[in-house]
Amino acid sequence: MQGFGRGRSGFLTEEEKADRPRITGAFLKRVLSYLVPFWKQLLLVLLAILMATVLRMLPAILTGRIIDEGLIGRDLGALVTLIGLSLGVTLLSNLVGMLESYLNTWVSQHITFNMRNRMFRHLQGMSQRFFTSNHQGDLITRMTSDISGVQQIIAGTFTSIISNLLTLVVAAVAMYQKNWVLATVGIVIVPLFALPTRRAGKTRWTLTREAQERQDEINGILNETLSVSGQLLVKLFGRENYEASRYEEANSQMVKLNIRQSMAGRWFRVLLGTFSSMGPMLVYLIGGILMMRYDAALSVGDITVLVALLGRMYGPVNSLLNMQVDWIRSMALFARIFEYFDLPQEVQNAPDAVTPDAIRGEIVFDSVDFAYEKDRQILHDVSFRVGQGKTTAIVGPSGSGKSTIINLLLRLYDVSGGGIHLDGTDIRQLDLAFLRRSIGLVTQDTYLFNASIRDNLLYAAPDAAEEDLIAACKKANIHDFIAQLPEGYDTQVGNRGLKLSGGEKQRLSIARVLLKDPAVVVFDEATSALDSIAESLIQDAVAPMLAQRTSIVIAHRLSTVLSADEILVVEAGRIVQRGTHAQLLAQGGLYERLYQTQLGVEEGENSPQPK
Ligand code: ATP
Repeated sequence: MQGFGRGRSGFLTEEEKADRPRITGAFLKRVLSYLVPFWKQLLLVLLAILMATVLRMLPAILTGRIIDEGLIGRDLGALVTLIGLSLGVTLLSNLVGMLESYLNTWVSQHITFNMRNRMFRHLQGMSQRFFTSNHQGDLITRMTSDISGVQQIIAGTFTSIISNLLTLVVAAVAMYQKNWVLATVGIVIVPLFALPTRRAGKTRWTLTREAQERQDEINGILNETLSVSGQLLVKLFGRENYEASRYEEANSQMVKLNIRQSMAGRWFRVLLGTFSSMGPMLVYLIGGILMMRYDAALSVGDITVLVALLGRMYGPVNSLLNMQVDWIRSMALFARIFEYFDLPQEVQNAPDAVTPDAIRGEIVFDSVDFAYEKDRQILHDVSFRVGQGKTTAIVGPSGSGKSTIINLLLRLYDVSGGGIHLDGTDIRQLDLAFLRRSIGLVTQDTYLFNASIRDNLLYAAPDAAEEDLIAACKKANIHDFIAQLPEGYDTQVGNRGLKLSGGEKQRLSIARVLLKDPAVVVFDEATSALDSIAESLIQDAVAPMLAQRTSIVIAHRLSTVLSADEILVVEAGRIVQRGTHAQLLAQGGLYERLYQTQLGVEEGENSPQPK
């Protein structure tokens, strides 16, 4: 996905041409709806543009009088007054210009501020389905460069269209007032020079795009190889030389392209530069002929003014020739942003959602069916009950749907059939924030922000006091570890907690759940084998987390299933067996096989007694 700022030029790419949005009345109305709240400020911007444009033209017009009245008329008083006036006007026009750009920036920043905040809230309301099926990069582009693009449109495109049109109108009116023949000559000349300039721009632009593609390639290499996991891969496979030469190759191509790009169109511009000075010469020539032969009223000053005004027209004409492209691009940008705003929020708070005062923590799954994608049902008729304060363990082969059951309980997705009840209320009827507040989750790949240990803990309970923090960490068996770190609770955990070991991360996230103190705990045990010390550290941490709380544990260890009140055996999205460890072992079947392969391996190692 391309940001607005990249490769911005007067030409549309093939991709942009294909993606041209359909601009309907309703679409424009929607664009305007973002501007309407700021109409007063926008009106001020318009006024400022108008004033600045007119003021900017005045010095050029005054030049005529400086020449005619001051210089040719040999009137020193008039000369000084006119020069003073001209300087004063220039100062004023710059001041108004400054005001204009302040207002302009203010309005465009506020419009995009609102838009960004709305988008952020909207995206946060999207279900996990959205985040698993969209590229994070796309989301970030949407939030950053696309919305910044809107700011550019408002501060740049819209206002430059207005100010360019105004400049042309003011210049044309002033020229016609001086002399219609010369004005017409001038106005015919301008587009003749503007059009070839546009053509030369196109060559450069093609090269720029090529350079951008190369740059993307280089960024790709850098991203891949300079990341933590990338470097690990490079080192493990000894590919340093290969990566370095790949990088050098891409880089050297970039150098060639950059040189070609900066030289492209130079010859053309040399010619054009010479030609474009012909415009004023033509006005001098025709003006001179007129003045000397036909129209005694035409003065030297008038001709000078006409040449000066002509000079002021090239820029605006050029910009206006690009206007259509800017317009299409701007609309495409809005279309992209609207597309995101229009994505339905799948999991939403019910309008009549309830927030109970207290929670016991009884969970009931009632004939739950679920599919992530159409036509591929993952859960089939899943029913079970976890009584208040009880522990249910879920076991099953990889991909059988264990994590999915938990996703549904947290309403990261909504069930496709059946229902889930917490204390007798369908969770879709519960306030979403309440539901998630009531459930603490410790997953295998524990998510930590790149911040200090303290900040990561406080994420669960922003108001927690230092003693609570320490108490939770003590219970989770991580306090001693944190205390011996040189920076203690202020230690940075690194990207996604990479500076901590798996076991440490898990204990930290247990402490986080203890701080949150939810009625229900969901624990996805790590599959990876830990040594017996790490193992017992975690076990000691888990015990206080599960105590007194309703809990569901995706179990990978014998000790966990032994202490569970009920074990559910899941296979291909169905509960195929249930009971206690002893009952299930007696039944044989899948549970026994799992026991032999996954669970039984640690038998004999500090396992607690079965319930
Ligand atoms: P493991 O023990 O390996 O973590 P699991 O039992 O927890 O496995 P789930 O993660 O619940 O299994 O996955 C169940 C099935 O759903 C798998 O076949 C998986 O491919 C599929 N699945 C999981 N997440 C998604 C998703 N976001 N979109 C589509 N399919 C998914």
